[in-house]
Amino acid sequence: MRYSKTLIPTLKEIPAEAEVISHTLMLRAGMIRKLAAGIYSLLPMGVYVTKKVEGIIREEMNRAGAQEVLLPAVQPAELWKESGRWEEYGKELLRFKDRHERDFCFGPTHEEVITDLISKEIRSYRQLPLNLYQIQTKFRDEIRPRFGVMRGREFIMKDAYSFDCDEKGVDESYNRMYDAYCRIFERCGLKFKAVEAETGVIGGSFSHEFMVLADSGEEGIVFCNSCDYAANIDRAEIRTKENGDGGENKEERKEIKKASTPGMKTVEEVSKYLKVRPQDLVKTLIFESENGIIAALVRGDHQINETKLKRFLDSNILLLAGDEAVREVTGAPSGFAGPIGLNIAIFADHGVKGMQNFITGANEIDAHNINVNIGRDFEIKGYGDIRNVKEDDKCPRCGKDANIKRGIEVGHIFKLGTKYSQMLGATYLDSKGEERFIIMGCYGIGVGRTVAAAIEQNHDENGIIWPMPIAPFQVLILPLNTNDTMVMETSEDIYTSLIDKKIDVVIDDRDERPGVKFKDADLIGIPLQIIIGLRNLKEDNIEIKTRRNGEIFKCSVDAVADKIIKLVRQDA
Ligand code: ATP
Ligand code: MG
Repeated sequence: MRYSKTLIPTLKEIPAEAEVISHTLMLRAGMIRKLAAGIYSLLPMGVYVTKKVEGIIREEMNRAGAQEVLLPAVQPAELWKESGRWEEYGKELLRFKDRHERDFCFGPTHEEVITDLISKEIRSYRQLPLNLYQIQTKFRDEIRPRFGVMRGREFIMKDAYSFDCDEKGVDESYNRMYDAYCRIFERCGLKFKAVEAETGVIGGSFSHEFMVLADSGEEGIVFCNSCDYAANIDRAEIRTKENGDGGENKEERKEIKKASTPGMKTVEEVSKYLKVRPQDLVKTLIFESENGIIAALVRGDHQINETKLKRFLDSNILLLAGDEAVREVTGAPSGFAGPIGLNIAIFADHGVKGMQNFITGANEIDAHNINVNIGRDFEIKGYGDIRNVKEDDKCPRCGKDANIKRGIEVGHIFKLGTKYSQMLGATYLDSKGEERFIIMGCYGIGVGRTVAAAIEQNHDENGIIWPMPIAPFQVLILPLNTNDTMVMETSEDIYTSLIDKKIDVVIDDRDERPGVKFKDADLIGIPLQIIIGLRNLKEDNIEIKTRRNGEIFKCSVDAVADKIIKLVRQDA
């Protein structure tokens, strides 16, 4: 590929719209441009990388025995009504009507379409197991599209669906996909962890997320150094005993007192002001749930986990109440809520159970209650595990130290069971001629998110550093003196010989100053640069430079191609 003939609109400045480094670098390296919120055009560099990632995915899916299909993006509402998700999916589902006023949606995922297809095509156990996958554009009307293609509204996903006769079969399919995913992300050069996860709106009984470790990640993950426990923070259980949670406390119940706390709303402010520890406070949070307004209590130094609370309350809806609702329920502005005198259901984290003589808001502006006690001053309707694991918590499985890190979810695999086959009537006849529901699994990878995650893990202050297997090009030839015939002819010769040897190569044939070329080269992150200047050419001493650590190999013109092949193979 010739640099001068393609569209690589690199940017010097950091674009104002970018919030994370991968977003910044994808814009700066001319890979993507925004069309609307969460909707991006992929420019040539973006396409080259995407195709590399897709290529790895295809190879591994095929190796695992899956077959590629391509399902429609536009899906009739009827199928979604059959599965019950026309209602359940909410506003993320983009709905529209055709000219006959029939309802359609743009597929955010394809369980409905594929299960419908299978219900019509599969009759017998002899046709199973089956695993079908596609690489295709999805649309989800995300409430907060952000970070570029990392959380877009329109995005490319690889989704696969497995169909089995029995539990043993679905376990095998699941494990095969688990292994395939590990190979895919390893081959993409990513540092990742597979963690136990929630099943969310997709449903099913069991799932793992593949998390690329990065500080910018939206997900919290908990893992153990001693055993192999790893889970999404929304799922990671609290190891109760180690925290003294639920323990008996024999302290004498002191008389309740009101303390003035002018303008002190946060746990930090109140504990400093009253000269107590954050863990002597109890936070009262007001939520709107499916069953009305509720209060949830957690210890002052703990963080509530809304996903856990949602599951505990068995409510599809959970929203932190706004200022107005808080005032209505507590009679005070946010920041001064407390459990005493509330006439809504109060739930609490296990960590609150053993507490005595604690501090809460007084449901009155600028005031907190001291020496509050459960049972005497108010009642708890139920205790649950509704907080985040925190740094000093122990591994829920083995009790050793737990770690908390941030991750980007690049893949998610689910054991679905018969949820969709029951709803959409996908059955098969077993060897005795009895009709049974097909057991399903589903498996997704965000292709664009994987590209962005790779950049989060592979960059420096000058730009992207592509891992060789997903680099848009493996080699960039940089002729420094474009007016010099010898420099250009040699560069062109090397260019053709590398193409002949099936190396992905781009030649920067632009009539630009060397400084400009070097800057762009580092920004777009091609792993190997061949630098051809007049002086080193005269000495027959050409430079090959690695983007990752700036290592320089010198060699003669004749030896360049072989050296390049060696370096490419080494990292492939
Ligand atoms: P998230 O929790 O990040 O919203 P999800 O659980 O909704 O993800 P799945 O339905 O499991 O995601 O989709 C499979 C994969 O598709 C995800 O692992 C992720 O890599 C990718 N993906 C999901 N939503 C988006 C999005 N808005 N933009 C880009 N990729 C996405
Ligand atoms: Mg989502």
